[in-house]
Amino acid sequence: MEYKKLVLKSGRERSLVNRHPWVFSGAIKDLPTAKNGEIIEVRSNHNDLLGYGFYSPNSQITCRVFEFTNDEKLIDDAYWLAKLQNAYHLRTQLLDFKTTNCFRLLHAEGDFFPGIIIDVYDKVAVVQLLIKGMENIAPIIYGGLNQLGFDYIYLKTKQNTQLLEQVEQGSRWVGEAAEMPIFVLEHGVKFSVNVETGQKTGFFIDQRENRKLLGEWSKGKKVLNTFSYSGGFSLYALEAGATEVHSVDSSKDAIALCEQNVALTLYASKHQSFVEDCFDFLKKSEANYYDIIILDPPAFAKNARSVDNAARGYKNLNLLGFHKVKPGGLVFTYSCSQHIDKDLFRKIVFSAAAEARRNVRVLRQLSQPEDHPINIFHPEGEYLKGLMLLVD
Ligand code: SAH
Repeated sequence: MEYKKLVLKSGRERSLVNRHPWVFSGAIKDLPTAKNGEIIEVRSNHNDLLGYGFYSPNSQITCRVFEFTNDEKLIDDAYWLAKLQNAYHLRTQLLDFKTTNCFRLLHAEGDFFPGIIIDVYDKVAVVQLLIKGMENIAPIIYGGLNQLGFDYIYLKTKQNTQLLEQVEQGSRWVGEAAEMPIFVLEHGVKFSVNVETGQKTGFFIDQRENRKLLGEWSKGKKVLNTFSYSGGFSLYALEAGATEVHSVDSSKDAIALCEQNVALTLYASKHQSFVEDCFDFLKKSEANYYDIIILDPPAFAKNARSVDNAARGYKNLNLLGFHKVKPGGLVFTYSCSQHIDKDLFRKIVFSAAAEARRNVRVLRQLSQPEDHPINIFHPEGEYLKGLMLLVD
């Protein structure tokens, strides 16, 4: 198989040698005569092969490299299937599927699979395709998913997708549709998930280990879960024996899901939910009432330009949390903005703590779980960070 060649400008191979998967348009000397989504070779100015990637002629990231190699290689169906199986194998080592059957199976660059995300809910795999190249090989991946025992595949189109095929057809089942909602387990806690109508792929899988940690501290406590979505943190607190749990989200649909999930537990009488803006809710809530406050907002910084505004948002939110939490209480605070790294996030939380005039200690630094691996060469993949704080 002959692949077309993309040739880099002289001296621009450094990031590729360092296995960073993105080739930016400014680094390119000769573009290939390839179509959008075609697999191409990336070569240095000296014509040394550096790897293989997907061509995206209309993007700033002109090529996403999925294989770094100096030797020619055939990228066939078996290549992709082996890669998928490798990702699945990691998850089998990580999780006991009897108690946790929802997880991320493919985490894009974190699994050396640029442009695709797959989340699994029991027998249902929810696929998000972000580039044309992945759309081209999707049928191979679907076959591999079926072989792994995922009988139902839902292709979920991202709202801002540029991929024409997806814009035209929208989100859809590939093959037979599964009945909604699906009931899944996460560390033995039961949730109902609707992949068709839910946010993201249906559930915020990336908070699994942080929810478990919250549960470990919740017995006998009054817990406020802000930005609750379908009540992930709330259910862990209830199951662990919290005396009172409040869930707040501005979305009516999210709170409806949260109520459905609470109804699956034996503790509905200990729970109350509120459709409200979390900043407003915190402002008017009684000080020193909650033992634990969870702050898990959506990404405030959607791009590099909005970092300053986002930083102000995080600061104000954390300030409110510090003002309201009971002395000796805990604040679990998170940011899932890729553009705010963990050092900056910590600085923001520091400034909120200083302004609140409370003694704040970091008990744990939190991150994304192992099924959202961070490719060491692609630090952009590290997006979720959090702090478990003791507030005296
Ligand atoms: N902690 C959740 C995920 C949170 S996602 C979990 O574990 O599943 C962020 C949520 O914040 C979304 O449900 C969104 O509806 C909600 N949201 C966004 N802005 C808000 C605001 N200003 N006030 C309240 N909720 C908000």
